[in-house]
Amino acid sequence: RAWNFNAGPSALPLPVLEKAQKELVNFRESGMSVMELSHRSALYEGVHNEAIELLKELLQIPDGYQVLFLQGGASLQFSMIPMNFLQEGMRAGYVLTGSWSEKALKEATILKQETYVAASTKEESYRRIPGLDELKLEQGSAYLHITSNNTIYGSEWAEYPDTGEIPLIADMSSDILSRPVDVSKFGMIYAGAQKNLGPSGVTVVILRSDLIEKARTDIPTMLRYDIHNKNNSLYNTPPTFGIYMLGLVLKWVQQLGGVQAVEARNQEKAQLIYNAIDESNGFYTGHVSDKMSRSLMNITFRLPSEALEKEFLSQAKAQGFVGLNGHRSVGGCRASAYNAVPVEACQALRDFMIEFQRAHG
Ligand code: PLP
Repeated sequence: RAWNFNAGPSALPLPVLEKAQKELVNFRESGMSVMELSHRSALYEGVHNEAIELLKELLQIPDGYQVLFLQGGASLQFSMIPMNFLQEGMRAGYVLTGSWSEKALKEATILKQETYVAASTKEESYRRIPGLDELKLEQGSAYLHITSNNTIYGSEWAEYPDTGEIPLIADMSSDILSRPVDVSKFGMIYAGAQKNLGPSGVTVVILRSDLIEKARTDIPTMLRYDIHNKNNSLYNTPPTFGIYMLGLVLKWVQQLGGVQAVEARNQEKAQLIYNAIDESNGFYTGHVSDKMSRSLMNITFRLPSEALEKEFLSQAKAQGFVGLNGHRSVGGCRASAYNAVPVEACQALRDFMIEFQRAHG
């Protein structure tokens, strides 16, 4: 298997792929693939509900929250959130910490809805997460939106703001299930599945029930959280195979020892690469300047010149590393060490970085 550091879609755990392969043409003695089951059959509903229950267990989602499986990616949530929650006369706050938060804000403003920037580190090329004391939260806001992990810049919130009565909404697409999270601090958490949860095609939404009750109903049916909730995400045909794969990934996390065990493994992995950066005497420099803002998932770094970066990426590719190019908007290098990336892949990358520096430093 390749050392897969893709930013997304990204590596899946090998045991998950093997299990899916084993069950592919005959799922639980049905004589059919999961893909061929009716989404109204008891067998499929079992798969669907098991995935919901397992996610609730792993993230310790309190009562009073619903788990939805939607389509359209995290990107559709950028539109659904203001459509459902931004009522007439209200304003919603956005914290800008990278390109994905900018996109979330843009979708809200396209709808000509009232928004404001509660904090931003754009002027600093998104090299850090704003301090909690920098947040300018307007009383009576419909919600505050944050991106918990910035996939492109490689920064991550270490501590979440306490927004009191104002619902906190987080795009956790690139760090959900990578570390424990206190769900009760949030009104809503959402994530495209294709990094830590499974294949692309499913978007997980964790939503507080009172927000669903208050959501607008004068919008298209498929964009209404209350409709998806009332129908247990079976209003229309859900991405059944993706949800099945998500369930397998959740079982794998459970077998690893749950989210806490996964976090310990992720810290070990990220530390291997951050150490190679920090101990390189400036040969490698991290994009994120504030160590408290460093991402556990996406490790972004530069080399002394673009020529060396090109050489680094070309040699890495030849040695079996995949996906180390930085995002096209920022350049440099990025190692995405999501949950499924094994420790050995990060050890191999660390060794390669040290060796490359020895040869070119
Ligand atoms: N939000 C974040 C933090 C992301 O990293 C991504 C994709 O990489 C998205 C949103 C967009 O997700 P999707 O492709 O599921 O719309």
